[in-house]
Amino acid sequence: MTGSLTIAGLGPGDAALVTPEVSAALADATDVLGYAPYVARVPVREGLRLHPSDNRMELQRAGEALRLAADGRDVVIVSSGDPGVFAMAAAVFEALEASPQWHDVAIRVLPGVTAMLAAAARAGAPLGHDFCAINLSDNLKPWPTIEKRLRLAAEADFAMAIYNPRSASRPDGFARALQILTEAGCGERTVIFAHAVTTPKERIEILPLQEARADMADMATVVIIGNSATRRVGRWVYAPRRES
Ligand code: SAH
Repeated sequence: MTGSLTIAGLGPGDAALVTPEVSAALADATDVLGYAPYVARVPVREGLRLHPSDNRMELQRAGEALRLAADGRDVVIVSSGDPGVFAMAAAVFEALEASPQWHDVAIRVLPGVTAMLAAAARAGAPLGHDFCAINLSDNLKPWPTIEKRLRLAAEADFAMAIYNPRSASRPDGFARALQILTEAGCGERTVIFAHAVTTPKERIEILPLQEARADMADMATVVIIGNSATRRVGRWVYAPRRES
């Protein structure tokens, strides 16, 4: 019996943004694992075993998925957006690295539409020129590293997509990030708050950084900060392709 492990991205929320490749993997799966709200997005059917788990259980979940696949099951582990962007794919490889007995498990990573791309599409083309993505959560990295990356990204004039900007357990980091960017001279840059993009709760707010307040972001928000040349044209925001 040979099992498999597929690490799949469900996209930002809208079922129309689940790729056909991911839908096919879910249709063939015997088991689906993931953070409970993501597992809840998987179509239920007879014989499919769902294994929802808590948010911070990534490594345990990855180990369990590998164990089930090694036992001959066809396992899909789901993330929102893309599984390689601040999500489960890296956790699976971390578990794999620590467990040589599973090195022969057949693994596939299926991409998905990550939040920043869905958000950028709503606003226009704010990521049309060089950009970076920064995870503001300091659960797995020291806060000074985040501050350094924000400062250097501002200095390099990247547009930035900020994931995990603010949560109940991390209420202050995003306010600090806004302050750092203001000190780095980004006050006039355009900021897009994209909340729950492609879901019925979607809300997009666009304003200059100096008018942004930390409470405009929550865990369902990705924040895009334009570069110094980012412009508004009517209701759209775009990053010009040319630089002098
Ligand atoms: N793998 C996911 C990101 C997981 S980190 C992806 O590729 O999109 C979780 C963060 O993603 C959230 O805190 C938020 O910043 C962002 N996010 C996920 N879905 C979103 C959505 N529908 N709208 C806005 N932001 C979203």
